[in-house]
Amino acid sequence: MTNRPITTDDAGLPAPSDEHSLSVGPNGPLLMQDHYLIQKMAHFNRERVPERVVHAKGGGAHGVMRITEDVSQFTKAGLFQKGKETPLFLRFSTVAGELGSPDTARDPRGFAIKFYTEEGNYDLVGNNTPIFFIRDPQKFSDFIHSQKRRADNHLRDNNMQWDFWTLSPESAHQVTFLMTDRGIPASWRHMHGFGSHTFLWYNAGGQKFWVKYHFRTEQGIKNYTGEEAAALLVDPDHHIRDLHTAIEAGDHPSWKVNVQIMPFEAAADYRFNPFDLTKVWPHEDYPEITIGTFTLNRNPRNYFAEVEQAGFEPSNLVPGIGASPDKMLQGRLFSYPDTHRYRIGPNYLQLPINQPRAAVNSYNFDGPMSYRNSQDPVYAPNSVNGPAADPALYDGENYQVAGEIIRSAYTKHAEDDDYVQPRALWENVLSETDRAHLVSNIVGHASAPEVTSEMKQRVVEYWNNIHKDLGQGVSHGLGLS
Ligand code: NDP
Repeated sequence: MTNRPITTDDAGLPAPSDEHSLSVGPNGPLLMQDHYLIQKMAHFNRERVPERVVHAKGGGAHGVMRITEDVSQFTKAGLFQKGKETPLFLRFSTVAGELGSPDTARDPRGFAIKFYTEEGNYDLVGNNTPIFFIRDPQKFSDFIHSQKRRADNHLRDNNMQWDFWTLSPESAHQVTFLMTDRGIPASWRHMHGFGSHTFLWYNAGGQKFWVKYHFRTEQGIKNYTGEEAAALLVDPDHHIRDLHTAIEAGDHPSWKVNVQIMPFEAAADYRFNPFDLTKVWPHEDYPEITIGTFTLNRNPRNYFAEVEQAGFEPSNLVPGIGASPDKMLQGRLFSYPDTHRYRIGPNYLQLPINQPRAAVNSYNFDGPMSYRNSQDPVYAPNSVNGPAADPALYDGENYQVAGEIIRSAYTKHAEDDDYVQPRALWENVLSETDRAHLVSNIVGHASAPEVTSEMKQRVVEYWNNIHKDLGQGVSHGLGLS
């Protein structure tokens, strides 16, 4: 025997064999009393947790954020104070594909960051686009159903996708992004990240501001054309491989941490609804300010433990940062922790990847797989010196709202219109080549055999609303006059 460790079962008992099950003679049936075999088979059957309904396919890495500028006049959040270094974990993903689906699909990319701050976990669950397809969570499950698979044949269906998009004009801005070359990033390292929602920041004096986060890649933007991506389908894990290989080689990717800051009072009269997730704040109104950088410098050692079991939730907000009235954000505050309770289990926050580095003094306890020992007293209020809340930490997150209880679209601001911002992208930002690729990417997508001729007309109309040259290009490409 060499000095290799002895195989054990999960209770630490020495394994009787790495090869042979217990049988009645060498050729006889197997025995129920072979606990080692039964534990192996039973555990194998339970190796998976349900995959995420969205953002199932992804990868991630550990890193650190360093803040270089003083923004204490805007937020008291510890992680954003000048000189602060905060460890983080970032998970990248596609949205619609299942586990095992190709990384190079045309899809937005998830950009979810967990900051392990001294005040508890702060999660920013963003994307590689600053906007989204819809602005009310009432439509979220319908939207995702339209992007995934049909009920009858279990196939994805471009007709279904265009049906939803053309009946949801608020999707125009995000679908424009998606159909540009940025819809297929060459790697996760070569794309920006965005917090997308508007959040509340408040300083130590209780003064409030609205904030948007932009994480600008320091590797530069690189994308694949549809043809390049199609050639890469032989390696469905192209992006996981790229990130892992780069970090392993010491080539640590980094992003600038930029913010746009709007005075609290300016929101009411701003020309766009600043809480509408289908809109950006144009830079001429609110320029980006660089406040630091973050770098990814360590690969996970176990994919399942650190990536698959990572749970990100926009409801993890530290003192100094609060929610905004963005309806999509409000919906996500519920749905993210709820999906983790279902998918991983109610004690997912005790797992090492999700565990805060700050002390946890919670009155929640027990439940499946709990290994945090709860202490007496197990209730509050109590007179035996148990943990007590400090509401002053949240002084500043309060603001006035009033109104009738109603089901309604947002009140429009002066320039709110679903097409004005994608039109600005087409007219002012995209190059001639970008525009040509946008048209051909749309035409390719809407030329799938399942897309009906009636739907093709609706597709042309959708793009005509943004710009007549764009509509004409799509119409021409689809062979419609
Ligand atoms: P600006 O000219 O100040 O900003 C344009 C933005 O577009 C920059 O952030 C640029 O960042 C980004 N960009 C450049 N090329 C592309 C591309 N091919 N696809 C997507 N984004 C690209 O103008 P405005 O702030 O007035 O915005 C004009 C339009 O630009 C918006 O309607 C929106 O569609 C888009 N945009 C705006 C952003 C914002 O927060 N204001 C953020 C991203 C896009 P970079 O080249 O570094 O990627």
